[in-house]
Amino acid sequence: MNAKRIDGKAFAEKLRGTIAAAVAKLDFTVGLAVILVGDDPASSVYVRNKGNACREAGIASFETRLPATTTQDALLREIARLNADDAVHGILVQLPLPDHIDAQAIINAIDPAKDVDGFHVINAGKLAVGQAGLVPCTPLGCLLLLQDTLGNLAGKHAVILGRSNIVGKPMAQLLLQQSCTVTICHSRTEFLSQEVRRGDILIAAIGKPEFVKGAWVKPGATVIDVGINRVTKEDGTTALVGDVDYKGAAEFAKHITPVPGGVGPMTIACLLRNTLEAACAIKGVAFPL
Ligand code: NDP
Repeated sequence: MNAKRIDGKAFAEKLRGTIAAAVAKLDFTVGLAVILVGDDPASSVYVRNKGNACREAGIASFETRLPATTTQDALLREIARLNADDAVHGILVQLPLPDHIDAQAIINAIDPAKDVDGFHVINAGKLAVGQAGLVPCTPLGCLLLLQDTLGNLAGKHAVILGRSNIVGKPMAQLLLQQSCTVTICHSRTEFLSQEVRRGDILIAAIGKPEFVKGAWVKPGATVIDVGINRVTKEDGTTALVGDVDYKGAAEFAKHITPVPGGVGPMTIACLLRNTLEAACAIKGVAFPL
């Protein structure tokens, strides 16, 4: 089998166009605030990309850049300021934060109505019990790709590698809501390759370059590779690869996302989607998507 490539980049561009059209019809300006603490180069690039994506969609982007020495109290004060700012409908704190800051305490200080990352304990709880709330962007992006590729997901066996609060756990909740049978694997899972082979859907989110081998993949499966790993090749150049051996897995899978160009672009598109959703809820207007 030679798997069909799932074009996350094209899907995300279409979604961003739909969001921009919806934003243009509103009689107020949607605003997203992003806080970056420290000068981690990768985080800096992510924040810049998010700002650019906002502007392209007609969403106002507010950036707060704070030094790595910022105290937890100072960061909490900044969040309180943004919580109270009516021009701001979404607040995102770029992770990771410096070690001296308690990331979960910071996230839980964000007004849940403005928690566009969906990491606040209230939004995580709503997802767990099936109430409407803001859903983490990366798993939401994976779900949209899966629905676009497969249609109805009910009854499919989904195997998720990774149990983080950011990807693995919310992904499992979303797929349960779609009536998938869900297996969650992690670093202590035994006979991992056998678990992987049960998946009609495989979501890999472990952060280990090309860890999942092609022969582990169930023939005909749909593979969503969340991993983003920078590796140095033999010739000294670097490249981005996922958690799945793409070439090997493409021999067995029916559909597969590439890295880059798969899940990554969907994460930013879903951030814009969540910001629009939050703004509509705050303003009391119907969410148009
Ligand atoms: P975390 O490090 O928080 O979690 C990794 C998970 O993988 C853990 O649950 C861990 O298990 C599990 N794991 C680690 N090693 C193994 C192994 N050998 N076998 C099975 N499970 C294992 O990572 P994130 O969830 O934040 O991110 C995962 C990947 O996704 C990273 O590459 C990250 O860069 C990428 N990512 C991509 C995004 C995108 O937009 N495309 C967005 C967010 C993340 P345990 O709990 O037992 O330690």
